Amino acid sequence: MRKPAARAFAAISTSFSGKAIPMRISRVLGTLFLGLAVCASLEAQQLEKKKRKLLCIGDCKGFQHDSASHAMATLWKLGQESGMWDTYIRTDTEWLTKKKSNLGYNAKNIDFFDAVYFFTTGELDMDNEQKAALLAFVRDDGKGFIGQHSATDTFYQWPQYGEMIGGYFDNHPWHRQVRIRVEDREFPATKHLPASFEIFEEIYQFKSWSRDKCRVLLSLDVASVDLNNPVVRRTDKDFALAWVKTYGKGRVFYNALGHREEVIDRPDMQKFMLEGVKWATGLTPGGKSF
Ligand SMILES: [Zn+2]
Repeated sequence: MRKPAARAFAAISTSFSGKAIPMRISRVLGTLFLGLAVCASLEAQQLEKKKRKLLCIGDCKGFQHDSASHAMATLWKLGQESGMWDTYIRTDTEWLTKKKSNLGYNAKNIDFFDAVYFFTTGELDMDNEQKAALLAFVRDDGKGFIGQHSATDTFYQWPQYGEMIGGYFDNHPWHRQVRIRVEDREFPATKHLPASFEIFEEIYQFKSWSRDKCRVLLSLDVASVDLNNPVVRRTDKDFALAWVKTYGKGRVFYNALGHREEVIDRPDMQKFMLEGVKWATGLTPGGKSF
């Protein structure tokens, strides 16, 4: 009796010679297609299992950025198109709690999510339990925190928040065309960027910030601005514009860019945010070497 492989070869030879495909080979092909379909279905299930949940907070108790809606809608779109996360957009902080007692009416609490994103301003309405919940979510649960633009212009009265995000806004000396240096091109969110690029944007300056406590991704090329601007306060001339850091077990990704909607629309900046969310939510491994 011939071995199965020899039988299959004979069957394929038969089909190549123009004769009808025997029943046996059609069964083999049927099994093969069924196997591929099962594999594709398993892959889809695994992808669905890995799919992250992102809670975007657009609460604002200070300057009202038009671009906040634009940024959150863009994150929603990036999650939809990539299939990597679902985005829940809120303009309040109600879900930033670990309490389970108020989960009626399909409400969620922070434990439902893999990362929280802030495009916020000022002292938000969060009580002590909510503040502790947000810190524990990142520090103890190993989840992600993503801040954009005025997320550092938020919670000056809550120093642990400043410590988590990495610094506080200290005015914006420039709003013009500038050159940005891509300091770290090894990080997943910067691999697609050139060594430097130009952008027209409002440029932040930070206080209570040190590059020793984070991994700087983008910074201002100071040759592209006037350092005699009266608002400039950093004597070290160090103007980081995006960084990552760890906070306990969790991952923090901050991007100071995003004042202008056309900045958010740039494909290179959308790729930056896409990879930033993937990293912060643990979809991209590594990056813990700081
Ligand atoms: Zn702004």
